[in-house]
Amino acid sequence: MRSVSLLGSTGSIGTQAVDVLLGEPDRFRVVALAAQSSTEVLLSQAGVLRPEIVVIGDESLYGVVRDGVPPGTEVLVGIPGLVAAAACADVVLNAVVGFAGLPVTMAALEAGKRLALANKESLIAGAPVVQKARRTPGAEIVPVDSEHCAVHQCLAAVDDLTAVARLLLTASGGPFRGRSPAELQLVTVADALAHPTWSMGPKITIDSSTLMNKGLEVIEAHELFGVPYDRIDIVVHPQSIVHSMVELRDGSTLAQLSNPDMRLPIGYALGWPTRSAIPFGALDWTSPTTLTFEPPDREVFRCIDLAYDAGISGGSAPAWLSAANEIAVEAFLAGRMTWSGIADVVAETLEGWRDEPVEEVESVLAADEEARVRARAVVSRRCRTIRAPRR
Ligand code: NAD
Ligand code: MG
Repeated sequence: MRSVSLLGSTGSIGTQAVDVLLGEPDRFRVVALAAQSSTEVLLSQAGVLRPEIVVIGDESLYGVVRDGVPPGTEVLVGIPGLVAAAACADVVLNAVVGFAGLPVTMAALEAGKRLALANKESLIAGAPVVQKARRTPGAEIVPVDSEHCAVHQCLAAVDDLTAVARLLLTASGGPFRGRSPAELQLVTVADALAHPTWSMGPKITIDSSTLMNKGLEVIEAHELFGVPYDRIDIVVHPQSIVHSMVELRDGSTLAQLSNPDMRLPIGYALGWPTRSAIPFGALDWTSPTTLTFEPPDREVFRCIDLAYDAGISGGSAPAWLSAANEIAVEAFLAGRMTWSGIADVVAETLEGWRDEPVEEVESVLAADEEARVRARAVVSRRCRTIRAPRR
């Protein structure tokens, strides 16, 4: 029986993870839950799963949570709470969104645990320190992101990395695939939130519309698997059935296929190497299926190249990219800025980037903060001159 800390339990990944965990009660026992502010969902999860620890990010909600959890449950708050919860289980599922996930990633790895990683931002922004923590005896990262889960599965068939010619990360292309730059000037928040194949939290859904998500995933793949950037490519595959591929030097291409259902990669990361007994995502091969592939439009989806450039620059550049993107996405979701402004804000923020060593968590936090300050200034300047389209 594996003990599991489910941190970010009330979000899209978190609630799907609850499904997975409840489906196999003889394999997993939930010892900790955490959320930022959704007390109603958190308390109902605590009632069903009976964890030992419940963490609430927003300290002002401590009383509500303390009064609502089953007797005997320990209630913790803020980052110290997340850190404690990340060190107390065999497997830590980091399903927090954004840079706020860094303390969870670090605490889980430093405690020598398995990190089932959905929170790509922590690995991307904190790569130098996360890689150090990953060397702690017992520590390992098993990706939850569907593309990286696919690559992880394909690489299991490869005896050494020198046989790998390229990683091919698939992308659905998002809701704006095939649109011209002129058409994209007019898109609204609701348009950008209407993802064709996946139902996810708001931040990653916007990232999928700009393809920044895929850019971030290129950096994530580089950090997870140690494959150089010139051997990681993006392929647009609108059906979201092939979740990624590994091309080998002998000309073979390995792929992992399933319906788009995050419960499959969540179950994989929690239970690996033992497979889940529930066929989440199983395909129906009796009905006609067409799979198509095309290259991404890198002119329209400028975030792809911004991400490659930041990844290749290394150091604190990915932290700047990710922080600037979070600020830009927030401003877009708040209706303060146009959709095409997201790539502009990231590009303009990164113009101010200068390389600094990132050896400690403190320098990652400093890089993140500096990028946020610059990105906010860029957003404010743009907001004075450009009005976002009405929702
Ligand atoms: P979401 O917005 O739906 O949920 C985020 C969760 O994190 C919520 O439970 C929220 O309460 C919690 N949270 C946020 N800040 C916190 C804090 N400071 N302390 C404690 N809890 C906090 O997001 P999501 O779509 O579930 O995505 C989560 C992560 O998984 C992201 O990094 C995303 O990129 C990644 N991911 C998501 C999907 C998907 O299908 N949703 C797929 C691949 C990767
Ligand atoms: Mg993904």
